[in-house]
Amino acid sequence: MKKQTPILTDSFKRKHSYLRISLTERCNLRCTYCMPAEGVPLVPRSHIMTYDEIYKIAKTFTDNGVTKIRLTGGEPLIRKDIPVILEKLASLPVEIGITTNGITIDKQIETLKQFNIKNINVSLDTLNEAKFKEITRRNHFEKVYQNILLLVENGFDVKINAVLIKDFNDNEIIDFIEMTKKLPVSFRFIEFMPFDGNKWDLKKMVSYSEIMKKVNHHYSEAKVERLQDAENDTSKNYRIKGFKGSFAIISSVTNPFCDSCNRLRLTADGKLKNCLFSATESDILTILREGKSIEPIIQKAVLGKFKIRGGMDTLEKLQEPDLHSKNRSMISIGG
Ligand code: SAM
Ligand code: SF4
Repeated sequence: MKKQTPILTDSFKRKHSYLRISLTERCNLRCTYCMPAEGVPLVPRSHIMTYDEIYKIAKTFTDNGVTKIRLTGGEPLIRKDIPVILEKLASLPVEIGITTNGITIDKQIETLKQFNIKNINVSLDTLNEAKFKEITRRNHFEKVYQNILLLVENGFDVKINAVLIKDFNDNEIIDFIEMTKKLPVSFRFIEFMPFDGNKWDLKKMVSYSEIMKKVNHHYSEAKVERLQDAENDTSKNYRIKGFKGSFAIISSVTNPFCDSCNRLRLTADGKLKNCLFSATESDILTILREGKSIEPIIQKAVLGKFKIRGGMDTLEKLQEPDLHSKNRSMISIGG
């Protein structure tokens, strides 16, 4: 593994060792918090990174100190060339994870095993079939649930992501945590974040403190154990004593973790975003296709990173539609 080079260090001395790569803007679900009902304008297929371009870009990042790559989207597992992408990335000195809606896990599980992909995050926002259909606009609850069990049976390290929305699924927080009594998974509650076209409203968000209030109301203080968070972890981790799994809260809205941020994001059309909330992007795919070095443009993008949430450093700014609508929808950023 190469040592971290200066090109991935920003002006606040944060070192970036984690790259999230979106493989596609397409998806087999239509989650309301992620994309507008009318869909997002898709870029032509010729503008989407090929597996070879993904590999070349990823290699430049690992050569400069990236040690973790997470594949996301859209839905990363709908790419037909996913086995080749995994094979190529698995040849790099990097830990690979995937964030998926879980629908096609049963079809891909042997490929995941073959390339030793252990860390899988599956999104599941409700344990109720009708509500699943309401939030995802599709009817795949049973498939996703069974595929989570399949991953656990096969020894994967499974995290389940749930975006909490007030009066929709906040009454399921304890049910989610109770799932971790027998299942060795980490349930991660994500504060609902604003992106272009997702009808965000601060009033719909369930905050870290509201979640913990529900937890502390249901379980005695002695039963709720605070776990050690991993370095650069975006989540605060807990376990109910005696439970096999754990739960965590990702509080990007009320308690951002920008100080220790080590992440960069690459969109499926090869644009580098230095922050999930950034309004600007750097086109590294075009430079790569011109046969030039992409390192200078990566360095410039990293140096341009704001201290907090793409410059939206207060909750007031985050609530300003003019500011967060300059960003893409989550589906085309790659969450
Ligand atoms: N399709 C895959 C999936 O659903 O896991 C990967 C892409 S999805 C954009 C990645 C993550 O972003 C998911 O866990 C999803 O719940 C989360 N996400 C999408 N929109 C969000 C929002 N507005 N606020 C918080 N999290 C969001
Ligand atoms: Fe698709 Fe994931 Fe977005 Fe849902 S959250 S629409 S599954 S990309």
